[in-house]
Amino acid sequence: AAKQRNDGAVVYDVAMDKSSAKSLSLLTELRNAAERNEFRLHVQPKISLDTGKVVGMEALVRWVHPERGNVFPDEFIPFAEQTGFIRVLTRWVMERSAELCRELATRGHHLKVSVNLSTRDLLDQDLPAKFADLLTRHKLTPGSFCLEITESAIMDDPVRAQHTLERLSAMGVDLSIDDFGTGYSSLAYLKRLPVNELKIDKSFVLNMENDEGDTKIVRSTIDLGHNMGLRVVAEGIESEAVWRLLAALGCDQGQGYFMSRPIPADQLFSWLEKWRP
Ligand code: C2E
Ligand code: CA
Ligand code: CA
Ligand code: CA
Repeated sequence: AAKQRNDGAVVYDVAMDKSSAKSLSLLTELRNAAERNEFRLHVQPKISLDTGKVVGMEALVRWVHPERGNVFPDEFIPFAEQTGFIRVLTRWVMERSAELCRELATRGHHLKVSVNLSTRDLLDQDLPAKFADLLTRHKLTPGSFCLEITESAIMDDPVRAQHTLERLSAMGVDLSIDDFGTGYSSLAYLKRLPVNELKIDKSFVLNMENDEGDTKIVRSTIDLGHNMGLRVVAEGIESEAVWRLLAALGCDQGQGYFMSRPIPADQLFSWLEKWRP
């Protein structure tokens, strides 16, 4: 429905097709959601697999819609990325994560918070400066943060992504390759990018105790990560058996429903009190 005029401006047809009408209203809804404070920060604890100690948490956004109830990120993150709204959302997640980290530190918990970045965030030349400002305002060190990036986000514009990541890395923040193994050129990036962590996708982990193929992939990925000097994290640990198997294979850290589902950020304090490895 959008047409580019010869002077470069974009105009919209009065008779918009259904899909773009739907898109426009979803974008309006996302903007409204931000204004009405309908986004919530959930966190999922990240555990050291040999000691059982909590080492950090991943920030995961939720949208509590007045009529539709809980809207999961898979339903709106891709759209937020397409429209650029993701930048607003990422800023919000970073801000809430920094507040949480500060509050945890004040109560004696020095935990690292992992935040998911999207393609658009990586292309934002101001991201390193915004991030530095965030740290100053919340009196946090760069080491309080880990930024998770997917291979597909890097793929979009590898040169610019690498530039942004190098600047962030130079500041001292941890970088993690998320959903490792699901992309198609993982190895080249591992060599070039200044990453600290490799996160094995849950599709290889969920059922690994019953699947020899998955176990082989996980074992090789752990070895690869360690050979490259990286910390290796598994997501999607749903049973004690899988935890034990991963620990035996030398995997450093893990997340999963067996330890905790993602919980509202304000419930993390009571969860931490109760957690016994
Ligand atoms: P992800 O970054 O790979 O996050 C891990 C997903 O696995 C989360 O889904 C988490 O709830 C789920 N998970 C964790 N443990 C288990 C488990 O034991 N079993 C199973 N079956 N699932 C588990 P969630 O929260 O629905 O998020 C989905 C995706 O949405 C995330 O995948 C991430 O790509 C994106 N996302 C979520 N929050 C944000 C955000 O703040 N910013 C951006 N850019 N993306 C986000
Ligand atoms: Ca992630
Ligand atoms: Ca992941
Ligand atoms: Ca994922």
